[in-house]
Amino acid sequence: MGESLIMKRASKVSYRGTRILIISLSLVFLFCAKEKSERPTFGLVVHGGAGTILRKNMTPEREKNYRLALTQALSAGYGILEGGGSSLDAVETVVRMLEDSPLFNAGKGAVFTDQGTNELDASIMDGSTLNAGAVAAVKHIKNPVSLARLVMEKSPHVLMVGEGAEAFAREQGIELVPRDYFYTEKRWKQWQGSKKKKSDKPSSSMLHVTSPPVGTVGATALDKNGNLAAATSTGGLTNKKFGRVGDSPLIGAGTYADNGSCAVSGTGHGEYFMRFLVAYDISSLMTYRGLSLNEAVETVIMQKLTQQGGSGGVIAIDRKGNVSMKFNTEGMYRGFMVENQDAVVKIYKE
Ligand code: ASP
Repeated sequence: MGESLIMKRASKVSYRGTRILIISLSLVFLFCAKEKSERPTFGLVVHGGAGTILRKNMTPEREKNYRLALTQALSAGYGILEGGGSSLDAVETVVRMLEDSPLFNAGKGAVFTDQGTNELDASIMDGSTLNAGAVAAVKHIKNPVSLARLVMEKSPHVLMVGEGAEAFAREQGIELVPRDYFYTEKRWKQWQGSKKKKSDKPSSSMLHVTSPPVGTVGATALDKNGNLAAATSTGGLTNKKFGRVGDSPLIGAGTYADNGSCAVSGTGHGEYFMRFLVAYDISSLMTYRGLSLNEAVETVIMQKLTQQGGSGGVIAIDRKGNVSMKFNTEGMYRGFMVENQDAVVKIYKE
């Protein structure tokens, strides 16, 4: 009798325990499902360069043009991702659009070198495979980012430079343009001004003979399959010396993407980005130290880069759709667009 009472109680207790367990598990499941459904499953971030971008120097017309170009690029990238396209296709398309715009220091609007030429650098990285491609110091390539992608996909190499890269472009049937395609009056005048500054300061170092960088372009994206990609394209620094290559075509410095962490594209004084491996450093802080995207970007840009005297910023997106856009300059042309949200475009510090 006593024994069966004990058994009955025990089975009641275990029944209650099971119910509590089921209810708790359901609550955890519901919470996770809600969290998941609220997270964007795709999205992209773009930049059009960081530097001395001040509201007081901007006309309403110019500001409108920059905002429009960034919004159009975001919408195009978003369309690709929404339709199930890859993050690689999205970043390449977005960067191509910005390369074709004379507003940015990439492709059509590239700055002039010390010799009065235009030498372009670009790179692209696939976070799902860690494959990457890049080109540097090319002079006749209309869309260097697409040549970078061909280096990644159609050659066993990661980086090709100068004439070799252009021979490869011809082999691949990619569009080449005459050098004067890259002429824009704005950049020519900037170069003249920069040369004058140089002759005013005959003993100045390399750091002083280059103008503050503004206008490099980049994009990072997360697609519906959870794949991350990043791409960056630039004309480099105004008045740069023969053969100078910046961070933008260097994987780990100006560009990095890893599905396990994030996708990053940088802009700023490339010599600093190269020495600090800015893009890879951000990814590594997430991988090895478990930092969030924002914490990693804050540590590398706002602390390390700033403390060392480097200027610039990055845009980044992680595999959960978190976005980060930080810079230590006066402004950075930037924007993002994630699933089911309108595009956000910003220029100044806010
Ligand atoms: N990072 C580029 C370079 O040093 C310039 C820029 O981002 O504006 O070539």
